[in-house]
Amino acid sequence: MNTPDTTLMKTRGYAAHDKHSPLVPFTFERREPGPRDVQIEILYCGICHSDLHQVRDDWGGSLYPMVPGHEIVGRVTRVGAEVKKLKVDDLAGVGCMVDSCRHCPACHEGLEQYCAEGPTWTYNARERGREQLTFGGYSERIVVEERFVVKIPPSLDLKTAAPLLCAGITTYSPLRHWKVGKGQRVGVIGLGGLGHMGVKFARAFGAEVVMITTSPAKARDAARLGAHEVLISRDSAAMAKQAGRFHFLLNTIPNPHDVNPYLALLKRDATMVLVGLLTAFEPSLQGGSLISGRRSLAGSVIGGLPETQEMIDFCAAHKIGSDVEMIPIQSVNEAYERLLKNDVRYRFVIDMASLKEAAQP
Ligand code: NAP
Ligand code: ZN
Ligand code: ZN
Repeated sequence: MNTPDTTLMKTRGYAAHDKHSPLVPFTFERREPGPRDVQIEILYCGICHSDLHQVRDDWGGSLYPMVPGHEIVGRVTRVGAEVKKLKVDDLAGVGCMVDSCRHCPACHEGLEQYCAEGPTWTYNARERGREQLTFGGYSERIVVEERFVVKIPPSLDLKTAAPLLCAGITTYSPLRHWKVGKGQRVGVIGLGGLGHMGVKFARAFGAEVVMITTSPAKARDAARLGAHEVLISRDSAAMAKQAGRFHFLLNTIPNPHDVNPYLALLKRDATMVLVGLLTAFEPSLQGGSLISGRRSLAGSVIGGLPETQEMIDFCAAHKIGSDVEMIPIQSVNEAYERLLKNDVRYRFVIDMASLKEAAQP
């Protein structure tokens, strides 16, 4: 699938060299596009909380040097001879995956994120069958096989489209899978990058949407984003009043937390889906929280390539984009600190033109 190591392109980006150091300018090599590859000049890249988790090695096993970034949008600059769906000058996006086994049942179904052999992540991974690290979107260009590239319609504002590649699909996919829609009362927990997209999609699908947040200061924004109601999760009396009233909950909290009060919000037979990669519940999950209402606790990871294209096209048709704060790449370390302090409305997006002003390593 990959071209030999002999044809490589020098590429500039920003990298973390270990879990304690800030991101710094970094030059590395990408392969020249092979017959099925698309080369994209990266214009914008969103900052996902997963970038921060991986840079700081929160999940263990991080690989350095790490060029993060999996909310990538840009312009196609070269295509291989066998590429069919994209041509030079098209707008294109790359999300969390750049490869998968292609032959397992999940890959056949277009659910590459559940590939039996594990997908190849856009960064913090090794290319399939090789030692070469993958490098993400905090960089000037990327080369990806066309199966893992989506087409961005020109009607979408590219800056607000970047976060769709992760925050968008990660919330769209479970809402679709659990068939959230009209007549359902749906709670989105955590108003950050994922949560604000969850509210927009749940509203667009016709559900009655409740934003469940720890931050009373975000109430007005929640309403603007499409929430019908706001529930402050730290207000135990308000939480108690809402017990047993939800058909579905989408939990985007990035840190260990007590899931029991949230599960109590579910109706009988209803489901709460986790998308945050948590290592622990604190305090632990109580069996009674599930047993008492035949409730389910489930998880979901991003979405496959066909569904990612479907989500992008849905956003174009319904004029949905992310609420973004644009930053130059030189501010990436400050943005990480602000993300940790819950100070983002609601996604940082890096303007990659700023890379031209970055110091050469
Ligand atoms: P984010 O922008 O930082 O938003 C997270 C929100 O959760 C915060 O804005 C805050 O909202 C709430 N929150 C934070 N700490 C909390 C705590 N201790 N207790 C309760 N609420 C808390 O993060 P994000 O980019 O949306 O990512 C969220 C999580 O999803 C991360 O763990 C990320 O790694 C993960 N993720 C998973 C997938 C997947 O495929 N499963 C994909 C992308 C990201 P309020 O102020 O409203 O409470
Ligand atoms: Zn992400
Ligand atoms: Zn597979």
